[in-house]
Amino acid sequence: MTVTPTAVDAGTVSTAYRAALDVISSVEPRIADAIGAELTDQRASLKLIASENYASPAVLLTMGNWLSDKYAEGTVGHRFYAGCQNVDTVEGLAAEHARELFGAPHAYVQPHSGIDANLVAFWAVLAQRVEAPALAVAGARHVNDLAEADWSTLRHALGDQRMLGMSLDAGGHLTHGFRPNISGKMFDQSSYGTDPETGLLDYAAVRAKAREFRPLILMAGYSAYPRRVDFAAMREIADEVGATLIVDMAHFAGLVAGKVFTGDFDPVPHAHVVTSTTHKSLRGPRGGFVLCQPEFADAVDRGCPMVLGGPLPHVMAAKAVAFAEARRPSFATYAQAVLDNAVALAEGLTRRGVRLVTGGTDNHLVLLDVTSFGLTGRQAESALLDAGIVTNRNAVPADPNGAWYTSGIRLGTPALTSRGFGPAEFDRTAELIAGVLAGTSPGATSSGGVSKAHYTLADGLADRTRSAAAELLAAHPLYPGLDLGRDT
Ligand code: PLP
Repeated sequence: MTVTPTAVDAGTVSTAYRAALDVISSVEPRIADAIGAELTDQRASLKLIASENYASPAVLLTMGNWLSDKYAEGTVGHRFYAGCQNVDTVEGLAAEHARELFGAPHAYVQPHSGIDANLVAFWAVLAQRVEAPALAVAGARHVNDLAEADWSTLRHALGDQRMLGMSLDAGGHLTHGFRPNISGKMFDQSSYGTDPETGLLDYAAVRAKAREFRPLILMAGYSAYPRRVDFAAMREIADEVGATLIVDMAHFAGLVAGKVFTGDFDPVPHAHVVTSTTHKSLRGPRGGFVLCQPEFADAVDRGCPMVLGGPLPHVMAAKAVAFAEARRPSFATYAQAVLDNAVALAEGLTRRGVRLVTGGTDNHLVLLDVTSFGLTGRQAESALLDAGIVTNRNAVPADPNGAWYTSGIRLGTPALTSRGFGPAEFDRTAELIAGVLAGTSPGATSSGGVSKAHYTLADGLADRTRSAAAELLAAHPLYPGLDLGRDT
């Protein structure tokens, strides 16, 4: 199987899943049916969501067992519950694999998701860097004593600390200091954008902003920026203004693990703290982790119970398996293919008249500006979905259509690369996408204006595209040979 870097054959994996579904069925058959149906749906979709992937059966099977039953607050060898010897083995191995894989001095593998990993990192920096006099305002000696305070008191007590991150419409993430996330309440936030002409990060502008704003935390990392980032330059900026550099590599951790991003583009040697998810380009279970320099290790290890619920031992075990997979040479081949495929997709789209933000890509994602087709991101997303192509709409820099309708579509190559797609298949995918965009027209509002939501697809286009997509997918089956032995 393409996403199974193990020696176990598909028949054995099929037997394992059939048995699991039989057991589940005996209690709640509708759940077993939904699990089966999800495999059918995933197999049939041309998945271009940049944040999704397909984990290997080894990773998936590692999560379905009794490790889940154990409480294990604390850290390896220092637990608040008895009987954690096996969880210690699991967490110790996951952290060791993470340290080796990324060359990091310290790894904390308990975060349940990427957002959790960021919260752990933020509290760690506050705990480590904020001076006691600031806390005394609220009668506290340590950041951890402040959990009860109201947010304005808390923020004030913390000395009205500042965070500088990439703006949302340039591709930053909500957790980098924006209002809908708690980071926007914890910090006084300001953002840096991209150059309006090129769409590229302008390091001189980031530096000027950092000099003026003097943040405690400089955040780097993104959800929708189609280029690599020079982390050595970001560290230089952080050092110049006395900031702590946190890099959120949730999206591109697989490219770091696979040594596609090295030198100045590898965040690990340059950042004070690195946060990540495990389930995007890294192809592990859903989850998060934090890597950091030794000075932040103790504070990071206090993530649970400061901002996290009890560790999930079964998921930490799956993280260990995924990190072990990513240490194999085949993962580096995969990561390079993710990048080569993104370049093929970008070139295929450009050749067919689609405008790309920054004009291309040098990571796993491509951001399309669909306004030249007279469409909003929302219309394009829906039309593509009708045609069997799963994407998500996304704001583009200075988006005239706002964050809800948007003007962009974000595409990513990690999932289809896991299915074995290469540059030729991604070029064909580009042809299908460009065809759908060209064959979609905006609809009218009830008052006769141009709608931002309604649209019409040319006759037969959705069906034609669906069957072309099905052909591509049939040539690269997901989990080939995995047979659940049931109709879904
Ligand atoms: N950080 C970045 C850059 C992301 O893109 C995302 C998710 O899309 C997250 C954090 C949050 O990850 P999770 O959904 O696992 O909390």
